[in-house]
Amino acid sequence: MGEFELIQTYFQRNQSGDAEGVALGIGDDCALLRPSAITGHALAVTTDTLIEGVHFFAGTAARSIGHKSLAVNLSDLAAMGAKPRWATLALSIPVADPAWLAEFSAGVFALADPFEVALVGGDTTRGPLSITWTLIGEVDETHALRRSKARLGDDVWVSGQPGLAHLAVQQRYGRLQLPDSINEICALALDFPSPRLALGQALTGVAHAAIDVSDGLIQDLTHIARQSGPLGISLDADALIYHPAVAAWAQHDAASAEHAWRALLAGGDDYELAFTAPVDARAAIEAAGVTSATRVTRIGQVDATAPGTVRVVGDDGTLVPSTTGGFNHFSTE
Ligand code: ADP
Ligand code: MG
Repeated sequence: MGEFELIQTYFQRNQSGDAEGVALGIGDDCALLRPSAITGHALAVTTDTLIEGVHFFAGTAARSIGHKSLAVNLSDLAAMGAKPRWATLALSIPVADPAWLAEFSAGVFALADPFEVALVGGDTTRGPLSITWTLIGEVDETHALRRSKARLGDDVWVSGQPGLAHLAVQQRYGRLQLPDSINEICALALDFPSPRLALGQALTGVAHAAIDVSDGLIQDLTHIARQSGPLGISLDADALIYHPAVAAWAQHDAASAEHAWRALLAGGDDYELAFTAPVDARAAIEAAGVTSATRVTRIGQVDATAPGTVRVVGDDGTLVPSTTGGFNHFSTE
């Protein structure tokens, strides 16, 4: 199969070019896009690369790679409160395997279609397996959720139940042994993360700051703490709750408890949203959780303690150990 047949077969969907906001899609030197003419709307642009052996295990199912590579980029749009519109895909593959490509593109479109993202172009090359997406969305410029917008006294919230994906990673490295039922839940979180787009959009104009949890809750919240002021963030140890399946498992022994705690605070790859909002917005945040069918939990406060840092505090006011760095590609530790 040649390069052009490959593109046509697996990626060229809107052949008539009539997807909303697309004047010209795949097939020319550039795509031509029509941003909506809404006053105050800005384009939100993000790009992320996934490399085999770095971001996903060699041999990961192609459908998961298609889903996840797009999902992590959609998650960045979600964290700004943006609505996704268009995408380009730079794909490097060692061989043009029709079965792999069919599964990969099925994973892509199963996510792109419901979120109304149009794949408008890309590049296809032979090389080590690597997937780079560029996503373009739209957001009201004044209400975009930024890392720098947290304010003193804000509540800190998180969506879903972070830590599941990290437990699946640990299991695949053979560092722990999860019961099958729990492993299934964790593997799903790792291989098919759900970008929190509906929640992110519902939070615009309500929440102040947001970030998607890709590198670990503490590390990602530290970005908000540093870029907002700087201010401090205190997390309430009792409010940091596990998924019910994990909660039961964590009580088995000290090693499981440590794994679960670490996964919750420092595990990446769940792509939940962590965000801050004023205290008087609590009802509105709960309502955003309901309309987006996404669990939201209040886990702490923005304060003036140790600006630029995040700490976990017990109900008696003592610091709870959270000796846990998040993921860092160029870490020398
Ligand atoms: P050019 O040589 O002008 O860069 P290409 O031959 O690389 O064009 O690509 C032909 C067309 O197919 C372009 O419109 C490009 O955007 C699109 N395209 C290439 N690879 C992909 C892909 N993996 N997914 C979607 N569109 C692609
Ligand atoms: Mg090209």
